[in-house]
Parts: sequence; C-alpha cells; structure tokens
Amino acid sequence: INAGRETLSRLIHQSRHCVVFTGAGMSTESGIPDFRSPGGIWSRMDPIEFDEFVSDESTRLEDWRRRFEMNEQFSAADPNSGHHAIATLVGRGKVAAVITQNIDGLHQRAGCPSEIVIELHGNATFGACLNCGARHELDEVRAIIARSGLSPRCDSCGGLVKSAVINFGQAMPVEAMERALDLAETCDLFVVAGSSLAVQPAASLPLIASRQGAHLVIINRDPTPLDDAAEYVLRGNIGEFLEDIA
Ligand code: NAD
Repeated sequence: INAGRETLSRLIHQSRHCVVFTGAGMSTESGIPDFRSPGGIWSRMDPIEFDEFVSDESTRLEDWRRRFEMNEQFSAADPNSGHHAIATLVGRGKVAAVITQNIDGLHQRAGCPSEIVIELHGNATFGACLNCGARHELDEVRAIIARSGLSPRCDSCGGLVKSAVINFGQAMPVEAMERALDLAETCDLFVVAGSSLAVQPAASLPLIASRQGAHLVIINRDPTPLDDAAEYVLRGNIGEFLEDIA
C-alpha cells in the first residue's frame, strides 16, 4: 500500500492530463452501499429494466418508490475523504476530469465543478421527461403520486417522466459518453476508483485509455476483470488512500 501510494503520487505529479473514473465503491465510505459487494443493493432486489418501466404502470410506481428511498439516503450522506481528495486535486489542476458511474452527486457536493464531472449513468436527484427531456423535481413527482396514485406525465408534452438515471436496457446519455470517450482517448493517466468494472460500456473506458498509452491505475478492494491490463492495482480503502495522496 505504501509503495502504491508513492507510485500513484508520482504518476499524478508527472501527469499532464489525469482522468479519474469512479464507481459505487467511491461512496461506500459515505454510507451508501455499492451494488455488487455482499449486502450491496443487488443482493437485496432485482434491478428494474428500462422496458419494464415504459410498459408497466405498477413497475413505474415501484421504480419511483425506490428512487425516493435512494434519494433520501443520498441527501443524508456526506462526501467522504476520497471525494474531498479528488476535489482538492481538481482544484490544484492535477485532475482534469471525473467520469463517474455514480448517481449520488457527491463529487459535486465535495467541490468538483459540475462542468468537469461526467455522469455516465445520470443523476438520481431529479426526474426528466423521456420524450422531451424537461426536468421535473422529485417533490413535484412525489406530490402527483400521492394525489393521484399514478406515475407522473410531463405537463408540456404528456411523455412519461422518469428519474434522470440510466436504468439497465436504457440508452447511454450521448453527450456524456462522447466526452468520456474523448477523455479516455487523450488522457495520459487514467485512475479507476471503486468500480467492479462489470457494467458496459463504462467498463471499456479504462481499456481504451491504456491501449492509447495512458498509465492505468485501479484502486479497488476486490479484483476486477481489468486488473491484468492495469499497470498498478492498489487494494485498500479509497478514502484514506486518496486523502494521503492529495
Ligand atoms: P459495483 O458495486 O459493481 O462495484 C463497486 C466496487 O467497489 C467493488 O468491486 C468493491 O470491491 C469496491 N469497493 C467498495 N467500497 C470500497 C472502498 N471503500 N474502497 C475501495 N474499493 C471499494 O459498482 P460500479 O462498478 O460502480 O457499478 C455499479 C452501478 O451501480 C453503476 O452503474 C452505478 O451507477 C450504480 N450505483 C451507484 C451508486 C452511487 O451513486 N453511490 C451506488 C450503488 C450503485
């Protein structure tokens, strides 16, 4: 761990275009469970697929019920030392961008400017119309469901309103994916923090970075399918690790 810390510090110091890529493991030290660790979200419930949301009213209500619950957990959580360390490195110009699979908004709350946080799987703190994209606040959605017992429709176009996260089976946000690909293709250091690297296409980004010649470092408690492709794999808790480096 000590050698890893020194190595990563040196790589970040030498790098001219470092990108950090985060997953659910980034937020476990804030008390938000990840998906695949024992006790994680998928060990308790099956995910709702996008098609099921679109085709079935009772599934939509169940999706909203889970989103409200999740959002309460996110609002109660605080950014941890790892989020703060990344924000510090961004502030010092040592990290150019943060690509995240997380939907909890904790990088921004730790002080990373939202322009440099690329959310690949959306954001759970508001809703959006699937047809016209109009934003809908969660309080408004909650009130509609409480009043009518029905899932909300967009007041401008009548489309289905859904939490602004990407469900399984739903198309990736085009602009975010393009920016992430561009960063993977142009960075000289790509640091993965807290991702099982099991969800595609996000998990292809570290490989794209390493194939174009960037250093690839993975910080994760458990093994990932890309460990063999990484130059350094660091096992340990992200928070204390990044705090020391920052
Ligand atoms: P994942 O659950 O598949 O993997 C998390 C990884 O982080 C695991 O391999 C685990 O070993 C590691 N880990 C957990 N805590 C750690 C710590 N403190 N230090 C070091 N490593 C730690 O997560 P994923 O790869 O991000 O994929 C899951 C999907 O779930 C993503 O699409 C994401 O959108 C979503 N998700 C988001 C949140 C969130 O926003 N906080 C929470 C759960 C799931």
